[in-house]
Amino acid sequence: MGIRKILDDKDPALHKVCRPVEKFDAKLHKLLDDMAQTLEEANGVGLAAPQIGILRRVVIVDTGEGILELVNPELLETDGEQEGPEGCLSVPGRYGLVKRPYYAKVRAQDRDGNWFEAEGEELIGRCFCHELDHLDGILYTQVMERFLTEEELDEMSSDD
Ligand code: ZN
Repeated sequence: MGIRKILDDKDPALHKVCRPVEKFDAKLHKLLDDMAQTLEEANGVGLAAPQIGILRRVVIVDTGEGILELVNPELLETDGEQEGPEGCLSVPGRYGLVKRPYYAKVRAQDRDGNWFEAEGEELIGRCFCHELDHLDGILYTQVMERFLTEEELDEMSSDD
């Protein structure tokens, strides 16, 4: 187990389409464990394998209810719309204004290859879309409206 280095958006790994996971073996389990440690250390909400240089379709999210592991995730359904600040561990210190679906439902495999579905609204919906985009080499900075200033961020967080 170990904490991996999170690559920034200048790294080519973040701009490539990732390949599906085919083997649900000890190597995958180690990757997922390392990703969980790395996400916890970085105090983030989600992490995709390409962010640590592994070009495989693996993401983890933790929106406050524990780590959810998504292997080979696919977006099944989205609904509604939300617009708000979004950040990324690979774009440190900056936030953008990003429009996302309000609700998202995904299908994915767990670490042993069993298919399951997961769904959520608000932060979870946003997070699923953000992390799945990473697997196709897309960063939020490519889909955002614009970067937010510190003042705008302060105002947005005081609204909650
Ligand atoms: Zn990200």
